[in-house]
Amino acid sequence: MKCKDLLIKGKAKSVYTTDTKGKLIVEFRDDITAFDGGKKDVLKNKGCHNAGVSAFFFEYLEKNGVKTHFFTMLDPYHMVVRKLEMIPLEVIVRNIAAGSIVRNYPFREGTLLDPPLIVIDYKDDARHDPMLNDEIIIALKLVTPAELIKIKKVALDVNRLLSVLLAAEGITLVDFKIEFGRKGKTIYLGDEISMDSMRLWDKKTGESLDKDVYRFEKGDVMTIYNQVAQRITRSVKKQ
Ligand code: C5P
Repeated sequence: MKCKDLLIKGKAKSVYTTDTKGKLIVEFRDDITAFDGGKKDVLKNKGCHNAGVSAFFFEYLEKNGVKTHFFTMLDPYHMVVRKLEMIPLEVIVRNIAAGSIVRNYPFREGTLLDPPLIVIDYKDDARHDPMLNDEIIIALKLVTPAELIKIKKVALDVNRLLSVLLAAEGITLVDFKIEFGRKGKTIYLGDEISMDSMRLWDKKTGESLDKDVYRFEKGDVMTIYNQVAQRITRSVKKQ
């Protein structure tokens, strides 16, 4: 299978059509951005680390009953996925207060959020991804009430499954963002799950092992991404 036409070029990934009906190819590029695109760089090999981690997570989630768009990797940068009608929601699950929830609300960084908090943003760069609530989501007809219940349930299932997996490698899953799409009436997990879309803390040292290293210049991003990708995929291989 080969990339045909460029369908979408996002900040760090490109999506291509293929000659196979119902299948697309996602290219994980070496671009990295933060702060609404205000900070950007190209970091050699970053794309393959994120693609590798995403592929491992998707396979692990599928084995545990979560429907994802993942089919296979063509090479370390290119993932074959199911073509979905993407839903413009960014579904964020938070186990520990950090990032925007601390900046925007009176939570202290590091506070355990139990039960986990689900926060849903509207995926719209021009509007800076504003936070939604259930009523707005339904009024905008972004999903049906039944789909919203399903999306939240899957988000919590993903949280439980990834938290256990990462804990086995000494990593705390602080928060993460996922996106969903539909094919007919079925909801699938789409997009990626990688160091760019999660907040991960080392259980022993408290160090960031994710895009916060890039956002706040906490160290060498590629050294950290390389190490954490190896830790994560090792934990999956042990399953
Ligand atoms: O910035 P904030 O604290 O809201 O991010 C919560 C989580 O969602 C973080 O893990 C972050 O990397 C992820 N996120 C993302 N894409 C966005 C916004 C947040 O992957 N557009």
